[in-house]
Amino acid sequence: MLSGEDNAAVPACRKSCRSDSRHQAATSVTEDSRAGRSSVAETGKRPVVSIGTEALRAWLKAHGQPRYRLRQVLHWLLRRGASSFAQMSDLPAALRQQLEAAFVPVSARLRSTAACNDGSCKLLVELADGQQIECVLMESGMRRTLCVSTQAGCPIRCTFCASGAAGLVRNLAAHEIVEQFVLAQGLLGPQRRLTHAVIMGMGEPLANLSSLLAALELVCSSNGLGLSQRRITISTVGLPDRIRQLAELGHSYHLAVSLHAAGDELRKQLVPANASIGVRAIVDAADYYFQRTGRQVSYEYVLIRNVNDAPEHAHQLGRLLRGRKSYVNLIRYNPVPGTDYRRPSLRAAQRFAKIVRSYGVPTELRQTKGQKVEAACGQLRLRQLSS
Ligand code: SF4
Repeated sequence: MLSGEDNAAVPACRKSCRSDSRHQAATSVTEDSRAGRSSVAETGKRPVVSIGTEALRAWLKAHGQPRYRLRQVLHWLLRRGASSFAQMSDLPAALRQQLEAAFVPVSARLRSTAACNDGSCKLLVELADGQQIECVLMESGMRRTLCVSTQAGCPIRCTFCASGAAGLVRNLAAHEIVEQFVLAQGLLGPQRRLTHAVIMGMGEPLANLSSLLAALELVCSSNGLGLSQRRITISTVGLPDRIRQLAELGHSYHLAVSLHAAGDELRKQLVPANASIGVRAIVDAADYYFQRTGRQVSYEYVLIRNVNDAPEHAHQLGRLLRGRKSYVNLIRYNPVPGTDYRRPSLRAAQRFAKIVRSYGVPTELRQTKGQKVEAACGQLRLRQLSS
């Protein structure tokens, strides 16, 4: 079943969806053209991916369909972003009607999009119960990456993040995670397939691990999008037990740890809900992830002016990670209304990177995307709620 949830309350992190290309000006904020889609609440029908692949296979078999129908239905959703069964033109008309009578294709709807001419587009998604989440689509050359949410709100309450401001509302079910891919693929169209995913949207992914893994299993399967696990990054504020649990499952997802401070005192201020978990325990768990999976862990560090961007902070980070199989992504902060935090200068960020590199730690200063479309995590949702 694609509906499992786990409710571990947890600690703290990252964010600002990012990529290598340059951000420019925002171009539009549009209400969604699919708003007419019938919802679960209106129809009482279940979204088709929520019953799980095996149950759907059995349902199709019980309706006299050959085995390949499962793949057809799922490809229409995940590879073409179909928003209705009527669109599934290579299915028999009778089957389309039976599907229509039993299910809704997608339970979430796209509430609005905000496009930026740096190739990023923020999606505000409304779930069947009215909760709103966000995801971000980023295009750079042949690479099309979706930044995905795993929770409505977030329990971590990072002091620099819009998503954490209101705390956790609830975990997303697995199908609600899958549906973000369906909606994004619907925007892209069948000729421009998603190539990568970063689990870095609203919420702490490892606090909703069972739903996330069930969703990614479908996304990565040949019946789904067929994405390689190696093209998916799971980002966490650092929950050592969950990192170890994930390491032991034998997947090859990339793990990114949102650190933001190398010392416990400063990290407590930035990531309060993670205060009981020391930096050392997080880094040890990340080392274990590398040992078990062979995949280098990246550390995300959002640079905030006069908070964690001083040379001594860089030295501290360099000393912590020296000799470990890892690398650092530095991201200059995307300001969030309602906080006093500010973005450091490019020069200060470059100086920080140089110091960390001097410890032999590979370090990259990343460009943030979507700065003009409130792409810091949770901002679009907050604006919509407050209006
Ligand atoms: S969504 Fe925001 S509050 Fe939650 S862990 Fe990420 S940065 Fe922190």
